[in-house]
Amino acid sequence: MRVRNRLRVTGIVQGVGFRPFVYQLASRCRLSGWISNTSEGVVIEAEGEEEALQVFLRALREDAPRLARVADVEVELREPEGTDGFVIRESAAQDRRLALIPADVAMCDPCSSDVSDPSNRRFGYPFTNCTDCGPRFTIIRDIPYDRPKTTMAAFEMCSECEREYHDPADRRFHAQPNACPACGPKVWLEGGRGSGVGGQRDKADATSAAANLLAEGRIVAIKGLGGFHLACDARNAEAVRELRRRKGRSRKPLALMVRDIEEARRLCRISPEEETILLSYERPIVLLEARERTGIAPDVAPGNRHLGLMLPYTPLHYLLFQTSPPALVMTSGNLSEEPISHRNEEARTRLAHIADAFLMHDREIHVACDDSVVRPVLGEPMPIRRARGFVPGPIDLGIEAPPILACGAEQKNTFCLTVGRWAVPSQHIGDLDSAETLDYYSRAIDHLTRLFGINPAIAAHDMHPDYLATRYALSLEGARKVGVQHHHAHVASCMVENSLAGPVIGVAFDGTGYGTDGAIWGGEFLVADLASFERAAHLRYVPMPGGAAAIERPTRMALAHLLDAFEDEADDLAQKLLGFSKAELAVLVRQIERRINSPMTSSMGRLFDSVSALLGICQETTFEGEPAIELEMRADPAETASCGFEVTEGHGYSIIDTRPLIRGLVGDILARLPASAASARFHNTVVEIVADVCRRIREERGLGDVVLTGGCFQNVRLIESAVQRLEGLGFAVYRHRVVPPNDAGISLGQAAVAAAIPRREDLGH
Ligand code: ZN
Ligand code: ZN
Ligand code: FE
Repeated sequence: MRVRNRLRVTGIVQGVGFRPFVYQLASRCRLSGWISNTSEGVVIEAEGEEEALQVFLRALREDAPRLARVADVEVELREPEGTDGFVIRESAAQDRRLALIPADVAMCDPCSSDVSDPSNRRFGYPFTNCTDCGPRFTIIRDIPYDRPKTTMAAFEMCSECEREYHDPADRRFHAQPNACPACGPKVWLEGGRGSGVGGQRDKADATSAAANLLAEGRIVAIKGLGGFHLACDARNAEAVRELRRRKGRSRKPLALMVRDIEEARRLCRISPEEETILLSYERPIVLLEARERTGIAPDVAPGNRHLGLMLPYTPLHYLLFQTSPPALVMTSGNLSEEPISHRNEEARTRLAHIADAFLMHDREIHVACDDSVVRPVLGEPMPIRRARGFVPGPIDLGIEAPPILACGAEQKNTFCLTVGRWAVPSQHIGDLDSAETLDYYSRAIDHLTRLFGINPAIAAHDMHPDYLATRYALSLEGARKVGVQHHHAHVASCMVENSLAGPVIGVAFDGTGYGTDGAIWGGEFLVADLASFERAAHLRYVPMPGGAAAIERPTRMALAHLLDAFEDEADDLAQKLLGFSKAELAVLVRQIERRINSPMTSSMGRLFDSVSALLGICQETTFEGEPAIELEMRADPAETASCGFEVTEGHGYSIIDTRPLIRGLVGDILARLPASAASARFHNTVVEIVADVCRRIREERGLGDVVLTGGCFQNVRLIESAVQRLEGLGFAVYRHRVVPPNDAGISLGQAAVAAAIPRREDLGH
């Protein structure tokens, strides 16, 4: 029997080779009809024998192209029209824009073969791509995703490219950024101001000229997929030092791009799981255990046992590595902590005093997007920074939500939009503490709300009144404001990505988050569902001398803990262990005792800082998280002992007394226990605290699901042992695999909470 179906396919089905796939499938099943990209997803009308349609429907889900993600197929029965043949229709813009937009994808193997085959017309062409690979998110100006709505609109396809684009049997059928040397973007090299590098604009040999400069120890700005990188030879100690000096970045580790997986294996110890992450088409930077004596300059990652490695992901990178040194520093093209530069003019100005030369091209980057960073945890990737390759990948909220803009936190900011049942977190924006970053933030919000056609009905925000993201939310006219407590947002973000409705035990350990009592929270055990939470336990409050100044100087925070734990002996210990002079100490102790600019905090991050300072590992912070990272790096894996702690009942919740822990650690230090063993004992103690408190909560409330979240859980030593310990106690343990545990995850959590809070009007108030 002949039937006709109208299908609406939603998910990631645009710009991923879905239409050619459907075209070929329909032809194989002898179906007639059409397919069209609309703003609501892909719409298909297919007519033919009923059995053939069944085969077609099954294959639609099961055999979809590697980048596609079919979320839903709505089927509607239509009157057969008796038409012949199957066609791909022109896209039509529509009002409801639920279509989802693909992320940028690393070059695929067939394209790599094209580029390296001297007989291929794309031999050596740096902008080769196909429906399986290439730029997407960073070049899309508007939807539906079609060439005229991308920055490729500036390039008119030559007859050969045009033929491929219209040939359903070709790999480049409807590949929107399709290009070749005859018609596509071009690369060229420019000398930097006062660099002594000639102002050549040599197009033919631009990449090899850039490679030569790198081999000579020069710093080259390279335009990539989501912005400019600053590159230099990672084995050249002088070049790395010079890059740090010019960029104003003293100690924060620099990422490397290496020629191939063999070079990666030479530099780092890599498990098969980690290799899979490195080679994935998202091509993130992966933090891996460095080998000794590989020739990499020590200044690449001082005080760190890890290296951040990524593999080439654009044809331009592959071409560069044909002659460049095999390991290059590839750090974001910016001044320290500013947003990444992505326009040619902007890069020429902002990077003028850093780069000796610029490897430029004329394919415009519409929206900047940094490299993503992941850390393997128990063989699986844990995101540290979620950007290129992953954004704007959606996360299923499980419920239909009104349009929400969740504005995110202050540090490592991202924002998040909801589109129906999907949450779409933005790319990494950065710390919202400069005019440049704030500008990037508001432009990125404009871009994403425009792409999705969202007019936020709800603006979700942190409760911290001074966060710029909070102020942004409060200034939005016409949107209902929903304040979400920081750690509740952390817990909710981890719940959503694990499809948990709660209630759960939420362990949220981080540096700073505004609490409902006005104190700075950060060592929190919440009992939470998405709509609400209760604070079940937290670290004992200690003063944070000088507020934010205590973050830069972990010795101040350590002093606060010494005063708390030792009272009278604290002065002597502070001079001995923290290097304070008597005079400095007198001022600080007075400040703490009188609570002058010393808010109370239960922060776990600050406890890590304090211990790092007490052990003499890091006594001054040059980048966020440094004391904790170095403390983790030093921890002896063989040490099994731990220190004491006590849990006492407070006002309706438990308080974890950190004084016995500090006393125990100081005792160990005075007994000359090596810092590596002491660091391990501290980590072990934190794991014991987690286990003990979770057990108490389980006994009281019968809850068995635990989520681990917050910036402290970027610490692999901590999260791996916490997972194992809790699982050993029979808990179901959930962690982050989609968004970072740090404040970059806050916006997703805010969106989830805002979507779950019942509206007052619904409650009949
Ligand atoms: Zn390809
Ligand atoms: Zn062409
Ligand atoms: Fe946080």
